[in-house]
Amino acid sequence: MAARTILSTQCLYTAARRAYSSNTDKNVAFLGLGNMGGFMAANLVKKGFTVRGYDPSKDALNAAAKNGVTPANSIAAAVDGVDVVVSILTSNKVVLDVYLGKDGVVAHAKKGSLLIDSSTIDPNVPKQIFPIALEKGLGFTDAPVSGGVMGAQNATLAFMAGGRKEDFERSLPLLKVMGAKQFHCGQIGSGQVAKLTNNMLMGITGMATAECMNMGIKMGLEPKVLLDVLNNSSARSWSTEVYCPVPGLVPTAPSSRNYDGGFKNELMVKDLELASGMALGIRSPIPLGAVATQLYRIVQSRGYGQKDFSFVFQLLKEENKN
Ligand code: NAD
Repeated sequence: MAARTILSTQCLYTAARRAYSSNTDKNVAFLGLGNMGGFMAANLVKKGFTVRGYDPSKDALNAAAKNGVTPANSIAAAVDGVDVVVSILTSNKVVLDVYLGKDGVVAHAKKGSLLIDSSTIDPNVPKQIFPIALEKGLGFTDAPVSGGVMGAQNATLAFMAGGRKEDFERSLPLLKVMGAKQFHCGQIGSGQVAKLTNNMLMGITGMATAECMNMGIKMGLEPKVLLDVLNNSSARSWSTEVYCPVPGLVPTAPSSRNYDGGFKNELMVKDLELASGMALGIRSPIPLGAVATQLYRIVQSRGYGQKDFSFVFQLLKEENKN
């Protein structure tokens, strides 16, 4: 019985590999044309891909149409006959519905096509979709991104992919158009593991920077002097150099534009909750990750979910008054 299962899995792998087209993947369906997807689809169009898009939001669909994306009125219509499907969606549930729903991608995609999901979600979701896609003769890879909306617009995103090497290699021509860096992290779901690990560390470092800058300033140090010291000492990080949470010290940081236009606090909460769930599943201790999750959640519950996550500095500063 076990031998038969292994054999049939091997057959599926072979069948999927044989059904693959070579380097002629020019027809793309793009699902989820929001803040990230709108720019990513537009960049594919700019480089000569034919892109059919679907998004339940009429505004998102109309904006994409202005950038050369052909609007479709359903997932089935979008994916019909295309070589590659790319998606970037909001949550586990939406991704599962879009891929495995009755009217979803797996039911309607052409045999031999490649499916690339760039949403940030639980690693178990791609693990659930992958074998079902494979059984239908489809390739599937999780390929979440880092770099934010600016990265999507300027095609400087970093892609972290999980799945079969051949699917990753096939995805590269598209990933290189939409981003500047591409990593194959390992088996299916490992792109999400890398992404959630990165974001938990970014959340912890951001919170630690806010806390320590606040303390030093409250002790009377000039904010700029303090930041210069940190940036030339052992506490230096991306958070101190590029993303300082104190307004006015790094002109390009979201803190210097009223915490607008960065990585929204509510997205940080979402990613930290996903990372916490992942850690819980393997009983990996995350004391700092747990504190960071709670603190960013408090920022959100106080009504600042739309602000950049470095807004946590303002919350800590407020505490000085008590
Ligand atoms: P968004 O809300 O702007 O876009 C998501 C889009 O998906 C929306 O336009 C929505 O209408 C659409 N959608 C919902 N249901 C759909 C369906 N059934 N079929 C097709 N489209 C559907 O979100 P975003 O900021 O573009 O983020 C998307 C994903 O990228 C999230 O998982 C997020 O965590 C991740 N991400 C975002 C950023 C960022 O800075 N915004 C950075 C890295 C990763």
